[in-house]
Amino acid sequence: MGTRDGLNWPRVQALAARERADYVARHPASQALAAQAAQHLLFGVPMHWMNDWSTPFALTVNEASGAHFTDADGLQYADFCLGDTGAMFGHAPVPVAAAIARQATRGYTAMLPSNDAAPVAIELARRFGLPYWQFALSASDANRFLLRWLRAATGRSKLLVFNGCYHGTVDDVFVDLVDGVPTQRASLLGQAHDLTAHTVVVEFNDLDALDAALGAGDIACVLAEPVMTNVGMVLPQPGYWRAAQQIIARHGTLLVIDETHTISSGPGGYAQAHGMRPDAVVIGKPLAGGLPCAAYGMTEELARRVEHAKRSAPDGHSGIGTTLSANMFAMAAMRANLEQVMTQDAYTQMFALAQQLADGLRAGIARRGLPWCVTQVGARTEFQFGLVPPQNGSAAKMLMDEELEQAIHLYLLNRGVLITPFHNMLLVCPATSEADLQRLLQAFDDCLAALV
Ligand code: PMP
Repeated sequence: MGTRDGLNWPRVQALAARERADYVARHPASQALAAQAAQHLLFGVPMHWMNDWSTPFALTVNEASGAHFTDADGLQYADFCLGDTGAMFGHAPVPVAAAIARQATRGYTAMLPSNDAAPVAIELARRFGLPYWQFALSASDANRFLLRWLRAATGRSKLLVFNGCYHGTVDDVFVDLVDGVPTQRASLLGQAHDLTAHTVVVEFNDLDALDAALGAGDIACVLAEPVMTNVGMVLPQPGYWRAAQQIIARHGTLLVIDETHTISSGPGGYAQAHGMRPDAVVIGKPLAGGLPCAAYGMTEELARRVEHAKRSAPDGHSGIGTTLSANMFAMAAMRANLEQVMTQDAYTQMFALAQQLADGLRAGIARRGLPWCVTQVGARTEFQFGLVPPQNGSAAKMLMDEELEQAIHLYLLNRGVLITPFHNMLLVCPATSEADLQRLLQAFDDCLAALV
């Protein structure tokens, strides 16, 4: 089975060409701004990967609010990308905007805790069931810092990840299985260290491989998303995490659950929703309503080991933390977001919308007889170009098809619907309306009709 089964490929290519031309015609202001930007921005965009979307030139955003944004040409979009989770609870949520406005004249950063630090930590502990917390500016940083603490606390240098994982720009994790052999990711630029020396990689959902890899007793932690979300979605098989947690504990290895994307599962993330007991948790992106902010929490036992590592270390730089981490501004935004935006009520609403969305996508796919599947993790939904949901990273990679993906994304975008680039992920937020859903499902249906 291939990703293009059931499609009329020449029609797909013709459609993609038409959509590119249409995009150019409809976005003169974005095009003019892109031309200006090209004079002084490397690659013509503030972040090089903003050029890797399906569009001939970057779509320039004018403003974003709730489930919508407007581009430089005044066109309005229903946003199912939501900043790839950063705006998972909607753009500029009112309570966060109010907290930011309040803090705007009260200082941003002082290298000291603000009034909001303790209440935020209390709330994180309550939600995630972990008593001790630290902060960072991004989930990438939070993962990086946590790895440092865990290596220091355990005296073990190695890390285990799952094939096809992504945990931000944490260099350690960019090791793939290529024909079963751990191999430094070929696309990783400028990395001079041999990452395979300290990173072990196995397939997700393979308990025997996990057990065997941990056997040497030299692995500090398993760093995992509870559901893989960055290679297309890969769900754990029933019972996988229960057994995997036992294996990990038996080898004296720690389990770090990265909830940055799976926070879509509920207010305490996937681990809380599914009764997992990780040693540490990382969360980033939407934590402060989309402002740069991330947090990592740990058990009492791990906290004691980490504190011991710090006390035992020589004076000097720990290599953990940055000046602006836990700044007053982010703390104020995070507090408002946790207390008033990321609420159980918001999740209840999002789950209902996501269910409707997933059902609608499945119905559209079935109508055209395409061998595709739809996977859902709470408010996060993804369609994949294969009949059966993949069981591991290798299988998931085989269901990716950039050319097909881009044709669909651009078709949707030209009809006022944005979905997450680089895979087929859709998020709903509390402000997503019935009309937004219908707009998406109609455009998706029309797109599929044009492709088969
Ligand atoms: N963890 C996971 C699971 C992610 O998907 C990402 C980013 N997509 C990160 C961490 C890193 O987040 P950031 O880019 O905000 O540092």
